[in-house]
Amino acid sequence: MIDLRSDTVTKPTPAMRKVMAEAEVGDDVYREDPTVNRLEAHAAELLGKEAAIFVPTGSMGNAIAIKLHTRHGQEVICDDRAHILDWELAMTAWFSGCLARPVPTSNGILSWSAIEPYVKNPGPFNAHTAMVNIEHPHNMGGGTLYRIEAIDEICERAHARNLKVHMDGARLFNAVARTGLTPARIVKNVDTVMTCLSKGLGAPVGSVLAGPADLITRARTHRKQLGGGMRQSGILAAAGLVALEESPRKLYADHENARLLAKAVGIDPATVQTNIVIFEIASDPASFIAGLKQEGILASAIGGQKIRLVTHYDVSRQDCERAAQVLRTLI
Ligand SMILES: *Cc1c(COP(=O)(O)O)cnc(C)c1O
Repeated sequence: MIDLRSDTVTKPTPAMRKVMAEAEVGDDVYREDPTVNRLEAHAAELLGKEAAIFVPTGSMGNAIAIKLHTRHGQEVICDDRAHILDWELAMTAWFSGCLARPVPTSNGILSWSAIEPYVKNPGPFNAHTAMVNIEHPHNMGGGTLYRIEAIDEICERAHARNLKVHMDGARLFNAVARTGLTPARIVKNVDTVMTCLSKGLGAPVGSVLAGPADLITRARTHRKQLGGGMRQSGILAAAGLVALEESPRKLYADHENARLLAKAVGIDPATVQTNIVIFEIASDPASFIAGLKQEGILASAIGGQKIRLVTHYDVSRQDCERAAQVLRTLI
């Protein structure tokens, strides 16, 4: 099977398996796992933040970040297709007691001028806006990217209004590969950032949340509340360290492969910025997906007439050439 459903389907590399087997471990809830401590320190440095915490999933990282920046009864601004809005099971409401306030966009990418009308001040008529969530790259927008100037402007203007900014950077390293900017530069002005080790970087489990040291200390309590206090998690963190070390340079190939698939489905490859291709079909999505499967190709139907393809290191150039051929025929 050529699995283009998601970049979460990658299997750990032989190098990851080896370090996992040999990882030095301890009880991480006591902060005694040297490998987790190493991963957290390394991630904080790479992201240019004071501290970082290893969390089991990106969703947990986002949920904790929102908790850190809000109080119950406030609003969280996000775009109208945000992962926190559509794919995190209403955790903003459930855990943080806040309302997600979606701002309409065409491709998931916000601007300060789009955000500003939705910012509310406290008073007898409005819930107070606490924060802005920006997703970079944007998953359901099709791997789309913010311009760095737009990120900086959103942060500057949001901070001037006393709003915090969290970056859902699940695929931050895809943005790094595409723009050539360092991760630390991209996230320089956001208050917190979450990035996944378990997507294109290929670790079997885990994400990191980075930000100011006092917030990350509080994040440890919230992680425990959510059942994310892991014990000898150095076995997982070891793979995460390899993922950060070795995988970012492989992401260029994923982007090239995504452009190849885009061409096959009639999308201008120049509009594909990272490793996600979203396209619409005229026929029934379920039978389209079934037809692909019969040819050994897995893709996702993501609602309406939309199909999503995601490239990653477990699909080769050759796999993508074959998938492109099948897609062209089916369409
Ligand atoms: C995958 C993803 C997450 C986190 O997903 P988990 O499966 O919980 O690790 C968060 N945000 C975006 C944009 C994602 O694509």
